[in-house]
Amino acid sequence: MDAANISAQTGDTKKLVVGWFSFTCSEDSTILFTELLNDHFAEWKTLVEFRHLKALKTKNSIENLDVAFIEGAISSEKQATEVTKIRNNSKYVVAIGACACNGLPSASRNMFVPENMSFKTKWYLENFDYSAKVKKLEDVIKVDDKVDGCPMNAEAFKAALWKYLKLFKIVENA
Ligand code: SF4
Repeated sequence: MDAANISAQTGDTKKLVVGWFSFTCSEDSTILFTELLNDHFAEWKTLVEFRHLKALKTKNSIENLDVAFIEGAISSEKQATEVTKIRNNSKYVVAIGACACNGLPSASRNMFVPENMSFKTKWYLENFDYSAKVKKLEDVIKVDDKVDGCPMNAEAFKAALWKYLKLFKIVENA
C-alpha cells in the first residue's frame, strides 16, 4: 500500500494498538518483522502504537490491545495461561508463522517415541514444566486470522496489518 493512499488520523489521534508476542519457536518471524521495519517504520509509526514488542522495547503492556500478533506454539500450562491473558486483553488475535498456525515444526516433539529419545531430550522433558503435547494457538485460544509460513509470509503479514488498520478506521478503505 502506497503511503500516498493513506488517509490516516495522525498526530494525537487514534492509532492501532498492537502487541507482538513469541511463545515456543525460533522467533524468525520476529526477526522478519524487525527487518520489515527498515522499510516501513516511518509509515507505521504514524498508524500503529506498538504497546507490547519486547524485541524493541523494555516497557511493555498487554492492556487493551486492538490486535495481538502471536508467534510460536504453546508448550506448557504456564504459556497457555499467559496466552489466555493476552486473548482476554485483545480485540483480535492473529497467529503468526507455521508454529502458531499449525503447531509444526515446534510440535514435532509430539511425534517422539520414548524408546528413541536421547538422554538429553528426556532430561529436558522431565526437568522443565512442559505439557504433554505442544499445541497450535487455536487449540488454546480463539484465533481470528492466520499468517502462515516458516517464517511468516511477509506480504500476508502486511495484508493482515492493513486489514486491521481499515477495520479500526485508522486508514480509509482504498
Ligand atoms: S514457524 Fe518456522 S520460523 Fe516461525 S517460529 Fe516456527 S520454526 Fe521458526
